[in-house]
Amino acid sequence: MPGHVYEILVPLADVQRLALSGARPLPVVRILLDDALGCVLAADVVGREDVPPFANSAMDGYAVRAADTEGAPVELEVVGVLGAGVAAASVGAVGPGQAIQIMTGAPIPEGADGIAIVERTEAVAGAGEPAVGSEGGAGGLPERPRVRILDVVSAGVHIRAAGSDLPAGAVAVPAGAILPADVGVLASIGAGIVSVHPRPRVGVMTTGDELVELAPDGSAPALEPGQIRDSNRHAMIATLRRDGFGPVDLGVVGDTEEAVTAGLKRALRECDAVLTTGGVSKGEFDYVKVVLAKLASAAGAAGAAVHELSVAIRPAKPLVLSWLPAGGAGARLIPVFGLPGNPVSSLVSYQAIALPVLRVLAGHAPAPPPTVPAVALEDLRRRPDGKTHLLRVNLSWQADGRLGARSAGGQMSHQLTAMAFANALAIVPDGDGLGAGERLEAILFGSVEPLRVS
Ligand code: AMP
Ligand code: MG
Repeated sequence: MPGHVYEILVPLADVQRLALSGARPLPVVRILLDDALGCVLAADVVGREDVPPFANSAMDGYAVRAADTEGAPVELEVVGVLGAGVAAASVGAVGPGQAIQIMTGAPIPEGADGIAIVERTEAVAGAGEPAVGSEGGAGGLPERPRVRILDVVSAGVHIRAAGSDLPAGAVAVPAGAILPADVGVLASIGAGIVSVHPRPRVGVMTTGDELVELAPDGSAPALEPGQIRDSNRHAMIATLRRDGFGPVDLGVVGDTEEAVTAGLKRALRECDAVLTTGGVSKGEFDYVKVVLAKLASAAGAAGAAVHELSVAIRPAKPLVLSWLPAGGAGARLIPVFGLPGNPVSSLVSYQAIALPVLRVLAGHAPAPPPTVPAVALEDLRRRPDGKTHLLRVNLSWQADGRLGARSAGGQMSHQLTAMAFANALAIVPDGDGLGAGERLEAILFGSVEPLRVS
């Protein structure tokens, strides 16, 4: 009796959960601070030194005793000059009636408790040049220079106390993603090596006999009949780079079982995760899913698995989600995503399903892609088909403070130009779609242009 093959569409949320359930952070490594931007710090970093390490001047001016400036303007004797990088002790103390000229960042000399900013002082005519240090010259005591302080200086003013940015023993940077300013904070406490989850090395392998590669020198060979250019590998590698991963270019492989097997074995030796495109739908030459299934059953490793899925989304319905043992030593399981071949589909599948898994490998908390609320600026119509549509849209700020969504162009899965113009995927549930003015949620993956003010 002829049987029927039923395709079961799996809701996106279930596929995301399934994908995330197998993901574990990569083991922590110690790397140079300057290589750590975007990596996830494995634990809070506690500073062992005060920042700043000593009390210093926030302004160029004169270090004074605040009490001496009561009844300003007053004249003080200048007994030294202190620049940044000089020990305060080398210049001596500020005694009653005295001041030391001081530059921003120089240590506060003993006796001083306030800074008179240079703009509110005047050199006193007839007084000598400022003496360096407090010693006198060779031929007896020269006349000391004097300065007029125009305003009352209150105690503590323009002084940056030791530890006023970060006291020793406090958390300097909490566990989590390292931002550019965090790199500065870590440098300020001398943390030149940090413990992070490494940037996942993500292999990208495109498959298809029709694909033509760009030459290494950037030149483009002429296309023979039936051929197209391989755009997926370039788009995917660029996307991975944008998202802070380390792409590994595994090249293009043809539609044969041998080529796909060799490519995937190399990928499992060299990468922490693998993305392939093409060869996962119902075509005669779709070998990726065949090879992944064979590799998983040959491995026999605990947890190795291959899920051939029809995700209830459009585009990007076909997906193979697999976990295979790493080629080298160790029993680590590598996520291998067999993404669909159509250029838009592969990027949508990455954004909605693969990216959250790669983020867990990088040390982030497991979570589906975050969404932002927006309002449709035009009709975003569709037909009911049992699937959630992920429409390529462009979100922009509206005068009312909301994000507005417009179609980014043609919505077919080969129309990469619309993906390029889009900064978000509008989630349009099964049904007739949305009318202008209706609210929606969107997965934002690009930047939103600021509101134009006319
Ligand atoms: P497949 O999933 O292999 O059947 O491919 C689906 C569609 O995507 C076909 O039209 C392919 O020619 C196209 N395609 C597959 N791989 C790529 C690629 N790397 N770059 C551009 N188009 C591709
Ligand atoms: Mg193909």
